Amino acid sequence: MNISEQTVVLITGASRGIGRGVLAAFGKIGATVIGTATSANGAESINSFIKENAFKGAGKVLDVNNEEAVNQLIEEIKKEFGAVGVLVNNAGITDDNLLMKMKAESWDKVISTNLGGAFRLSKAVCRDMMKARTGSIINISSVVGVMGNAGQANYSASKAGLIGFTKSLARELGSRGISVNAIAPGFIKTDMTEQMTEEQKNKLTSAVALGTLGEVADIADACVFLARANYITGETLNINGGLYML
Ligand code: NAP
Repeated sequence: MNISEQTVVLITGASRGIGRGVLAAFGKIGATVIGTATSANGAESINSFIKENAFKGAGKVLDVNNEEAVNQLIEEIKKEFGAVGVLVNNAGITDDNLLMKMKAESWDKVISTNLGGAFRLSKAVCRDMMKARTGSIINISSVVGVMGNAGQANYSASKAGLIGFTKSLARELGSRGISVNAIAPGFIKTDMTEQMTEEQKNKLTSAVALGTLGEVADIADACVFLARANYITGETLNINGGLYML
């Protein structure tokens, strides 16, 4: 689709990491960017980032687990800026443990945030996209949703679920001019990967063909590419430096 100042791009989890990078990439090409954080401070930091860079848009508070809050936010954005044209379902969490030790709450929380969040947001924006007969939904999955990872059964299941969700939604919405795609990043330098020890990072990068962790911009640029692409839907773009080749 054509991206202009009139295009409202909503990115969940834009207070830091990949989400912040995606917001910057769409801001740079002149779109109106709305980024969410779970706290008022986080939303304020997004607002400051938007102002500093002379982008158009705003930071908003959102917990993607709260369906009512999701629906309210979509209405608020519509009144303030117009209907959402591009949705990037980026908000995500990990809560790792071996299955034997994993608590049911940890399973539920990760599935509800990572997979349920994309469901709630996509449902809330798709009516207006259908009316406009254009739109793009991009779901941030993960390489571990494709290859699996010991200690991350909940996270991997949520990320693999996003790929099935993407394909089904692409089939439901394609005839209305809406594309739905996923990106499966490998290991990218953010707070999420900062939690790893040096030893874990070294072990990991030795398995990456390009020999290094990825940058936030590698994922952000791909989001812009997918939003602009007219004839790509239901796809999962694997951006992992050759960690896993399909
Ligand atoms: P991050 O630095 O940990 O940031 C996570 C973002 O999600 C934050 O903005 C956070 O908001 C938000 N968030 C967390 N829980 C939320 C909730 N319940 N409702 C709304 N927002 C919530 O993560 P990241 O590394 O940038 O990862 C972004 C996405 O890429 C995630 O879906 C992750 O699974 C995926 N991914 C990352 C990597 C990687 O190597 N980094 C690899 C593959 C996939 P607050 O700041 O308010 O907490």
